[in-house]
Amino acid sequence: MRAYRLIGAGQAEVLDLPRPEPGPGEVLLRVLAAGVCRTDLALLRGGGDGLALPVTLGHEIVGEVVERGEGVATPERGALVAVYELLGCGRCRACAGGRDNVCRDVSPGAIGITRDGGMAGHVAVPARNLVALGDVDPVHAAPLTDAGMTALHAVERGRPLLDPGATAVVTGIGGLGHLAVQFLRATSDARVIAVDVDRARLDFAADIGADEGVLSGPDAAGAVLAANGGCKVDVVFDFVGAQESLDLAAEITGRGGAIVVTGGGGGRLSITAQMGAGRAPDREVAIVHTFGGTRGELVRALALAEAGLVRTQIEVHELAAAGRVLADLEAGKVLGRAVLVP
Ligand SMILES: [Zn+2]
Ligand SMILES: [Zn+2]
Repeated sequence: MRAYRLIGAGQAEVLDLPRPEPGPGEVLLRVLAAGVCRTDLALLRGGGDGLALPVTLGHEIVGEVVERGEGVATPERGALVAVYELLGCGRCRACAGGRDNVCRDVSPGAIGITRDGGMAGHVAVPARNLVALGDVDPVHAAPLTDAGMTALHAVERGRPLLDPGATAVVTGIGGLGHLAVQFLRATSDARVIAVDVDRARLDFAADIGADEGVLSGPDAAGAVLAANGGCKVDVVFDFVGAQESLDLAAEITGRGGAIVVTGGGGGRLSITAQMGAGRAPDREVAIVHTFGGTRGELVRALALAEAGLVRTQIEVHELAAAGRVLADLEAGKVLGRAVLVP
């Protein structure tokens, strides 16, 4: 089978490999679709600092069960499944509840990062990581396993503040942000203001349900407040996490609100324990830093897609084009999510 392998910093290629064997407790999937994430780009550029290389990339996986390892009774061969990407210890209270993202025993690994993933013809994965696909097109479903689950998890962290009349800002209308806008639209009555550096992405956000769009830049804070009747907002979902976007979040979030940071842009958001100091958020603003999501949120993201309430914006490419697709992603040329098919 062919597989897109990360070899070292700046080095990855499509190679021919033997098909993997499912170990005890694992199943072998024939991959139907694998999403391409900014994390793949970071791994390629940085060489996956500390990872055991080479490794097959691809942590957004949908496939068909073709073989079951020792001790695996379900699902049946032929079942279509989505893969919960995270690998906690598998034993603690969090992992037992499908919340590997908050495992306290180990720093969670991920299929496609710390073990071989789905940018390949086949992939072996633990059976406990499988979720029924339902009636969702595999290429549309693949991005829901990471981008969708992670965006929905962020929305859930802001959920207590999303009562009718609330205003939410979604910063970064990319793979995660375009799904967050739709989750907010589908599951809350909050007004949604999209923020992005790119006018075309704001137009896209409007098409999928955002009420307003604001271009990032020095005037963004004023524009958000103007779009919200002069008031600060209730929740900011930041899918960029750069200094500029976090500064904006600090400036526009009102007392009693929350800033939910999911993007990994390297910025810093801090509380200054002193009245009136600097560009820190107001008092009574909660700051949440999220990581991935729960298995239950993956199930819910798939159900919302199956119900037609959320639709992943995708472009589909052959596995052989993985390198070019990552370059397109880096250049900001991908709208929504790119998906590879073997
Ligand atoms: Zn990812
Ligand atoms: Zn655990």
